[in-house]
Amino acid sequence: MKKIVPYLFYTLLFVFSSPVWASEIGLHDATHTNHQHHQAWQDIHFWEGAVSGLLFHELGHVVIGMSYGGKPQLNQGSIVYPNSAFSRKASMRVSSAGFQAQWLLSELSFSALKKHDGMFSSAYYQGAIAMHLAISTAYLLRLKDMPTSDIYAASKTSNISREQLAWAVFLPAALDAYRLMGQDVPDWVSHLSVGIKLAEVGYIWQF
Ligand SMILES: [Zn+2]
Repeated sequence: MKKIVPYLFYTLLFVFSSPVWASEIGLHDATHTNHQHHQAWQDIHFWEGAVSGLLFHELGHVVIGMSYGGKPQLNQGSIVYPNSAFSRKASMRVSSAGFQAQWLLSELSFSALKKHDGMFSSAYYQGAIAMHLAISTAYLLRLKDMPTSDIYAASKTSNISREQLAWAVFLPAALDAYRLMGQDVPDWVSHLSVGIKLAEVGYIWQF
């Protein structure tokens, strides 16, 4: 496993490099109501949100890992727990904690965007959601097959294939991409995304 962090940023750039998508993001930027064409990713707050999204994912691993007595160390962009013997139950929770954290942050961000409130600018929340999309996409494309990655670990613990787990992560992210970038997105999209996230969190904690 090498250079997970740069790979995530490449995926983020790839996902948001399409001019069509980028302009859709612009339409949803509540801070710019004067119809001036503005693209969220040109705003520094977007990148602050993206970095926060990544840190929040890692924080999820650290908090849950430490709660099971693990001593987290940073190894080439991913959190590892050398010399920690987690039970299957603990291992499932620790390896999925990053995704759970980003699901939580994405819902908080959507809520802030919808109500036009929150401590940060809308570009910040868009950046946080964008990182959630990038991480989920990167897992499906490549990270799932890296031996130190979350899905690799969760697959070994659960005996569910890496492919299946990557789709389980990607599915709500795909709905979230539509929520973030689509126009006149129907309510069921949010409900379905939240429902899938809750079902998966439920599965993880009863594992
Ligand atoms: Zn992770």
